[in-house]
Amino acid sequence: MMLECPICDAAINVKNPQEGDIVTCKECDTEFELVQFDDEWDLLEVGEEDWEENEDL
Ligand SMILES: [Zn+2]
Repeated sequence: MMLECPICDAAINVKNPQEGDIVTCKECDTEFELVQFDDEWDLLEVGEEDWEENEDL
């Protein structure tokens, strides 16, 4: 499966995509988490600093 990097538009090749997988763009070295919406896959940038503030579920 090919996805497009939201940062630099480079193609990112993902084999056997799984929700929550981390992929890295080879062009801009940004890490993304794979998330699925219906049949579409999306890339969420990881490494943002407010991860640990979202634990009050
Ligand atoms: Zn990129």
